Amino acid sequence: MACKRAGRDPAEVRLLPVSKTVPVERLRNAYAAGCRILGENKVQEAYGKWQAMEDLPDLKWAIIGHLQTNKAKYVARFAIEFQALDNLRLAGMLDRRLQSEGRALDVCVQINTSGEAQKYGLPPDEAEAFVTELPAFSSLRVRGLMTLAVFSANPERVRPCFARLRELRNRLRQTAPDGVEMAELSMGMSGDFELAIEEGATTVRVGQAIFGARNTPDSVWWPGNASPGGVR
Ligand SMILES: *Cc1c(COP(=O)(O)O)cnc(C)c1O
Repeated sequence: MACKRAGRDPAEVRLLPVSKTVPVERLRNAYAAGCRILGENKVQEAYGKWQAMEDLPDLKWAIIGHLQTNKAKYVARFAIEFQALDNLRLAGMLDRRLQSEGRALDVCVQINTSGEAQKYGLPPDEAEAFVTELPAFSSLRVRGLMTLAVFSANPERVRPCFARLRELRNRLRQTAPDGVEMAELSMGMSGDFELAIEEGATTVRVGQAIFGARNTPDSVWWPGNASPGGVR
């Protein structure tokens, strides 16, 4: 629906199911229904689920939440994708750990498009300089940008966050060094994925609209925040 309204081909938009708080038994059902990749906010939770489902080697894991440097080693061990890169120290640690595991990782740079002080991600005006440094980390395959919009039921507040990410991606495409890809726009969740698709999302990260409402408050996943409004 959203693709049609935006005149976009649904094949251009990847749906990343987000499985935080959803127990392993239910994720096995999702696998049986054809799901082959899951997104998790916290690496500890993802790591435990990965271990519990190691009998399903074609089930892949994407880490989409803020990561402390001292947990980089876990991501390097099993994830195929990390969407919340926002500092060079973490890039360096991930790269080192990936080298020793003999693995590579797709990454998106997280951008704070809402200007809220408590949100993770780089301010948009620091993105260009940051991206210029990334070729030094040869195990990181830079794919594009990720953001969380302001949590609001008002599309007029949400949409500009997505538009800002798209404009930044378009600009970085011109300046990004060789080896840095700027195709991906990971934006949109259960409450706002339709707007994100209209604004050019290539990946939408959807949890509650697939797996049902969570009982945990959103402040567990994002610093000091009100609810994104859940499933509208
Ligand atoms: C949980 C989460 C999502 C999905 O949110 P839903 O409201 O469950 O769709 C998207 N992105 C990130 C970073 C998340 O932590």
